[in-house]
Amino acid sequence: MNSYDILMLAGDGIGPEVMNPVRRLILWLKDEKGARFNLHEDDVGGAAFDRYGTPLSAHTLAAAREADCVMLGAVGGPQWDKAPYDRRPEAALLSLRKELDLFANLRPAMVFDALIDASTLKPEVIRGLDILIVRELTGGIYFGAPRGIFDVSAGERKGVNTQVYTSTEIRRVARVAFELARHRRNRVCSCEKGNVMESGRLWREDVTALHAKEYKDVELTHMYADACAMMLLRKPLDFDVIVTDNLFGDILSDEAAMLTGSIGMLPSASLGAPNAGGKRHAMYEPVHGSAPDIAGQDKANPLATLLSFAMALRYSFAMGKEAAAVEAAVRKVLADGKRTGDIARPGEKSIGTEEMGDAVLKALGNQ
Ligand code: NAD
Repeated sequence: MNSYDILMLAGDGIGPEVMNPVRRLILWLKDEKGARFNLHEDDVGGAAFDRYGTPLSAHTLAAAREADCVMLGAVGGPQWDKAPYDRRPEAALLSLRKELDLFANLRPAMVFDALIDASTLKPEVIRGLDILIVRELTGGIYFGAPRGIFDVSAGERKGVNTQVYTSTEIRRVARVAFELARHRRNRVCSCEKGNVMESGRLWREDVTALHAKEYKDVELTHMYADACAMMLLRKPLDFDVIVTDNLFGDILSDEAAMLTGSIGMLPSASLGAPNAGGKRHAMYEPVHGSAPDIAGQDKANPLATLLSFAMALRYSFAMGKEAAAVEAAVRKVLADGKRTGDIARPGEKSIGTEEMGDAVLKALGNQ
């Protein structure tokens, strides 16, 4: 079995609380399954700012480059809100994504049967939902130049952002989507606005050409992003993998996430390109933030972070069987009626972060 280096950056607020069960899961996999994990830990975000004077120290970034993956909790909190923009805890996330060139952001949206009532949509529309959104993360309108607010004439200004994509950027994220689809239901829906944007037209042409050349076995459809937003609400079960750009992916992944009900349940992965040896940079983190309103109270739902680690098992360590076991343990715990406050119905008994972590590890042990 290969040996893997994991850099754990628990961060701020509820970050350290939701990371505790992951640490225990890592130890369990080492003890019970012979997994060869070397766990390294450091501060990030506000905690790193307080300790090192910067939200992401040079040595932490160097360790992230060396690691097989980064497991990140959450960053941010009101005590750092007044820090200059480049020193704010959130700057650490952007730096990690940029420096590791994590261009593909994977956000699964899965509905667990036991939580079907948590969605605002009818059960028959979302039962069995299992979508994977692959969002381009390092290009597009959030990074394109020129950008800024410019004076045009007296009393008149203009705000400018630029949507730019190169064929290389489009192809590498589309490739991730096609590869992942092959391990799922083999369908990719590519979304853009080629009807009104040249970058969208190029997106569609390049995805189509790549598909014809290398991925003919995968079913490919195209949809305009606004139509996709509608179809996600009308017939979400029609989707398997959705690949889209940074801006549309930001919006569509939040919409898909809300189909499932709670933010405390949503994992994510950000991947870079594989090197010659097949190894790629990767960062796994829950979608939620540091939740200062419940931090330090043993109230946070650790399932998003545990499910993020399951993604690490699958995509960074080729341990698909163990990943499925963690997901099955989560499903079992929910089916047994265990709920943290965020997913409990009014009047329903809820348990704390630690107890939820215990329950998942126990369910794993009993499989
Ligand atoms: P948030 O996700 O932290 O919280 C939103 C709401 O969801 C809160 O009511 C919170 O209590 C609840 N919540 C979040 N995660 C939960 C969990 N695991 N279990 C139970 N309830 C949960 O978003 P916010 O309040 O907008 O931001 C708080 C801080 O987090 C800010 O400083 C923000 O910049 C930062 N943030 C960080 C990340 C990240 O680290 N990736 C992402 C988003 C926001």
